[in-house]
Amino acid sequence: MIRENVQKILAELPDGVELVAAAKTRTPEEILEVIQAGVEVIGENYIQEAERLYEVVGTKAKWHFIGHLQKNKVKKAVEIFDMIETVDTAEIAREIDKRCSQLGNASAAKKVMPVLIEINSGEEKQKSGITPENAMQLIRGISGLQNIKVMGLMTMGPRFGNPEDSRHYFVETRKIFERIKKLNLPNVEMKYLSMGMTNSYKIAIEEGANIVRIGTKIFGERDYERK
Ligand SMILES: *Cc1c(COP(=O)(O)O)cnc(C)c1O
Repeated sequence: MIRENVQKILAELPDGVELVAAAKTRTPEEILEVIQAGVEVIGENYIQEAERLYEVVGTKAKWHFIGHLQKNKVKKAVEIFDMIETVDTAEIAREIDKRCSQLGNASAAKKVMPVLIEINSGEEKQKSGITPENAMQLIRGISGLQNIKVMGLMTMGPRFGNPEDSRHYFVETRKIFERIKKLNLPNVEMKYLSMGMTNSYKIAIEEGANIVRIGTKIFGERDYERK
């Protein structure tokens, strides 16, 4: 089932749109199955879960962190992940930068972590992400850090029954993306726009997403929802 689901999604994604399989609550066997079916990027929300999966899956896939990152988990996160999609404060950006600089030694180059800035496009109090109006200032503020590189934006947007209702939030995030891109800031390469989940990814792609994060449509319903 997982195999068919992945192949169907990959077949319909336009060229240039990357699929991230959202792995929360899934088993290592399920993750290996999506990789065999052609998925190249695994998204994880939780560091502990990522460590368990990584032991089995390792570098067979790229790893994107897509959850809320706590400062005390950054050290572990920079060892596992190839991209952190959810940077929303200067403090967390500086911590990632610092921990990446400490990874380097004489024989191995320091790591430069590609990051996306998470936009709280619905300006929802309980959600993480930076508000649209503060995004520009955050990116300017962290663009001087040498061990991270801002590569674009990510947003969740409010959850709706009708995916069409998400469109507005994707459009607004795209506008921020274009505005920042025009500034040509040093060390900022606005390349990725990560928007859209199982029920909204088609709309997100219409509005410019080139990374979509899909869980349910690949793996089926989650038994329980961890927040
Ligand atoms: C769980 C999750 C997804 C995938 O959600 P589905 O509705 O299961 O496709 C995407 N992005 C983030 C940040 C998530 O936590």
